[in-house]
Amino acid sequence: MIRHSIKRGNPLTWVLDLIGETCLRAGFSSLKTLFILFSLLNMGVAYTQDFDERREQMVASQIKDRGIYSRSVLRAMRMVPRHEFVPTHLRKLAYEDRPLPIGHSQTISQPYIVAYMSEALKVEPGDKILEIGTGSGYQAAVLAQMGLEVFSIEIIPELAAQARENLLRTGYLKVNVRCGDGYEGWPEEAPFDAIILTAAPEAIPPKLIEQLKPGGIMVLPVGPVHRLQYLKRIEKKEEGYTQSTLLPVRFVPMVKPPRP
Ligand code: SAH
Repeated sequence: MIRHSIKRGNPLTWVLDLIGETCLRAGFSSLKTLFILFSLLNMGVAYTQDFDERREQMVASQIKDRGIYSRSVLRAMRMVPRHEFVPTHLRKLAYEDRPLPIGHSQTISQPYIVAYMSEALKVEPGDKILEIGTGSGYQAAVLAQMGLEVFSIEIIPELAAQARENLLRTGYLKVNVRCGDGYEGWPEEAPFDAIILTAAPEAIPPKLIEQLKPGGIMVLPVGPVHRLQYLKRIEKKEEGYTQSTLLPVRFVPMVKPPRP
């Protein structure tokens, strides 16, 4: 039976189901139909294995060899299928050492930067984290794979919808995505153990500092639009905070929504 309405789970299963039924209806014998399905399944497995191998290589050469040692970060980078978070026509580039466009003039960060920022957060499984700039949902998936409770805000509605779809399809069902302005944070869920920004504000947003727990860490790029920015690590204290500069980086700007 074809389950047209059930599109969750492995998309391969329902596609094969559909092709099988179509072949039978077209008058192919059961044996021929089985053969067609088996060949298609084999092609699918080879396609997925190819990505798995490339992901392993990516982690070895771009992440581990460059000094990322956190076991949970390395494990998450090995587990999350990055190719599922980029536009279909760019999938073959998903494991390259570079950021990639995801539409609406936005980008998914270079894998090394995702790993570096995830490690700099110094989080533990079970911690509650706020991400600003959901984009494709990839960074959120990496954080969820590390065992964190993830809340993520995206300002562009189409990207928020796409990220939700990507996260559902890859099984990261517990990530909470909200479409809204990241400068406001997510006050109903505050305080957070950690906050990560994947778009660069010109200055550290004060409301985000407020929503961080004492002892909590915020990792963010800060700097002028499309000019040199620095990745910073903020540690909130009982009073005020300390900050250190980690790396020169280039991120898309964190935009201010138009005033009503
Ligand atoms: N973390 C993403 C990459 C994000 S790119 C990933 O893994 O794919 C930065 C994102 O920040 C963009 O999608 C952009 O639309 C979003 N953004 C920019 N300004 C924002 C704001 N004020 N609030 C929330 N999201 C914002």
